[in-house]
Amino acid sequence: MIEKLSDNVYVETGVRGCNHSFVITTDGVVMIDTPQYPTDSVKWREEIAKFGPVRYIINTEPHPDHCAGNYFFEGTVIAHEGTRQTILANPVQSYLEMLKQTDPPSLSLVQNYSFRPPTITLTDKMTLYLGKHTFQLANFPGHTPFQVPVYVPEEKILFSSDNVTNNVLPYISANALPLAWIESLVKMQNFDAKVLVPGHGNLCDKSYIPQMIALMKLWLKAVADAIEKGMSLEEAQDTIDLRDKYQGSGRSPERMAQTQKMNVKKIYEMLKGG
Ligand SMILES: [Zn+2]
Repeated sequence: MIEKLSDNVYVETGVRGCNHSFVITTDGVVMIDTPQYPTDSVKWREEIAKFGPVRYIINTEPHPDHCAGNYFFEGTVIAHEGTRQTILANPVQSYLEMLKQTDPPSLSLVQNYSFRPPTITLTDKMTLYLGKHTFQLANFPGHTPFQVPVYVPEEKILFSSDNVTNNVLPYISANALPLAWIESLVKMQNFDAKVLVPGHGNLCDKSYIPQMIALMKLWLKAVADAIEKGMSLEEAQDTIDLRDKYQGSGRSPERMAQTQKMNVKKIYEMLKGG
C-alpha cells in the first residue's frame, strides 16, 4: 500500500522488502530505495510516472531489498561508496535464484537483468538539491557500515534506513556494527524530524528511536549474560529469544528464529573479540 505522507512524499510500507519512498520535487522525482521484487518495481514505475521522471535514486544500504529494483528505474543512483563496492561484488545469479524460489512471476521481467550500482558515491556526507527540496545524506554506520539515512528538511521527514526497524526484528548480520549502530541512533535523534520512515515496519516518529536503542542494548546484554554464564554460541542461540519484543514483523516464526540465531552469532563473536 502506498501511503501519502504529504503532497510531495509517498511511502510504500506494505510489500515484501524494505519501505521505499519517493519525493516529488518541482524538478522531478527522487526515490529513496527501490523494491526488492521486479513485480513491485513495475507497479511502482507506473505509479511514479504520474508525477514526473525519476531524476535520482538514493540507496540507503547495499542489501538487495533496498537496491535490487534500481534496474527498473531511470535516474542517477547515489549511495555510499561501500554500497557500490558491495553491489559490484554481489553475484546477480544469487538474486535470480532467490526470485525463482520466492517470486516466480518476476522471472519474465529479469531476462536481461543486471544490478545498477550507484554512479555517485559518498563516504561521509553530501547534499542533493533538486527543485525546492534538499536531501541531506550522511553515513551513520550500524545495520551495515554503509548506512545512509536521508533527511529532507522541507518535509521534516527522516528516512532512517534499516538503522531503525519499527517493531521488526533487526537484522544484525556479519557486517553489522552493533556498537556504532547504537551511537548512530543516539545521533539520529538530533534530526528535526516530524515523521520517521523506518527501513522496515510502520511509519513512526522519533519517539521510536529511544526504544530502538533500548532494544539494541537488550540484544547486547542478553548475549553478554549468556557468555557470562559460560554458554557456547549454540547454547546462547538456543536460549535467547527476543521475538516477543517485535510485534509488527509479518515474518514467519521460522524466519524470525533464523534471524535471531544470526543476531546472537554476530554479537557473541563480537563480544568474544572474534
Ligand atoms: Zn539491510
